Amino acid sequence: MNEARTLLVRYDEIGLKGKNRRFFENCLLKNIQRALAGLEPPRYRVPHGRILVDTDRTQAGECAQRLTRVPGIASVSIGVPVERDFDAMAEVGIEWIGPRLREAGALKFCVRSQRSDKSFHKTSPEIDFEVGSRIMQRLAPEGLTVDIKHADCVLEIEVGESETVVFDNRHPGLRGLPVGSAGEVLCLLSGGIDSPVAAFMMARRGCRVHHVFFDNQPFLGRGGLDKVERLARLLNRYQGGGRLYVVPFEETQVAIRDHCRPANRVVLYRRMMYRIAHALAEENKCLGLVTGESLGQVASQTLENLAAVSSIARLSVFRPLIGLDKRDIIAEAQKIETYDISIEPHPDCCSVFMPPRPATRAKEADLLADEQRFPWQDLVQKALESVKTYVLDEPVVESVRTSS
Ligand code: ATP
Ligand code: MG
Repeated sequence: MNEARTLLVRYDEIGLKGKNRRFFENCLLKNIQRALAGLEPPRYRVPHGRILVDTDRTQAGECAQRLTRVPGIASVSIGVPVERDFDAMAEVGIEWIGPRLREAGALKFCVRSQRSDKSFHKTSPEIDFEVGSRIMQRLAPEGLTVDIKHADCVLEIEVGESETVVFDNRHPGLRGLPVGSAGEVLCLLSGGIDSPVAAFMMARRGCRVHHVFFDNQPFLGRGGLDKVERLARLLNRYQGGGRLYVVPFEETQVAIRDHCRPANRVVLYRRMMYRIAHALAEENKCLGLVTGESLGQVASQTLENLAAVSSIARLSVFRPLIGLDKRDIIAEAQKIETYDISIEPHPDCCSVFMPPRPATRAKEADLLADEQRFPWQDLVQKALESVKTYVLDEPVVESVRTSS
């Protein structure tokens, strides 16, 4: 049988982009090339409204699998180029459906053809009939039936000007927009369940997401950083090109403990995180901050406390989880495969020196008064000078370097 394979990459939202469509297509093509790096290089074609990736039988499954993790792609199908001959088209269908049918005992199928070469002597319904009846002739005795609405296997055929390709079922993609089309953002990544989901949601809307982690190793050990690094690398699989900034935070936390109202501690920690993240974002041309905050989830996430932390930021603060239930966030974390790492037990630095009753409605005036009592500007500066940057595309050990 023919060893050549052509993957058909479909996108839906980019298709609506009018004059900017080329820009989005180019962005997606770059991300596809990045996702398939390391494989025998395929050939790429961009006919109107989709992308074709030419590869071979041995790599096609792996390519399809990787492409279902690339934002901007609605679905992927693996296709076999064939002669313009109904027997050859049916043969591909039989090779694909036959083994599944034998395994399942009974299957419903249909053929859906499209003819971009209008000079071909048969219409689409005629092609469906010709190919479908040949497949039925061979496989009906084994339990195959035709069902146009609820098919288990949909054989798609494209009769183009230069080639005819027969495709298998659509593998669903992430949808959304290609990473890079919307600019860069900086996510406050904590190692919990929420912030990785928030980062992913922004990547799916076209942002390249970098991360910042506030680390309190003297009090909590290395475990938190190890967890966050693995999360950041996993999230980077969806986009590539990401960085993780790690900021030592113990000095700031000790200063807040020693000089400020205990009830305001968590909000004060968070304001310091935002200040440092904000400076890092500006330094690295990020256009916004992203957090995993969700309304009312914990004491620090009331409307008042959220306002008290974002008031220090000029940049936009994105909270994609703000209206989601924890249950929905967990389901999403499981889908993107961050959940199992997130639930590894390791306390976050916000729990260090936790007061018995944290303020649920911290007052801006009190926070400003608290911040008079410790040299927060110096601490921000010091934190920025000791940031470590991890380049997430690079292999593990060598990637640690100090930012310039
Ligand atoms: P998560 O599951 O993301 O940890 P959470 O519900 O535990 O969220 P909080 O601990 O209140 O919520 O943190 C709220 C947000 O603040 C996090 O989603 C994250 O964006 C940010 N954040 C908290 N701790 C850190 C940290 N150590 N480093 C970076 N960001 C942090
Ligand atoms: Mg947390």
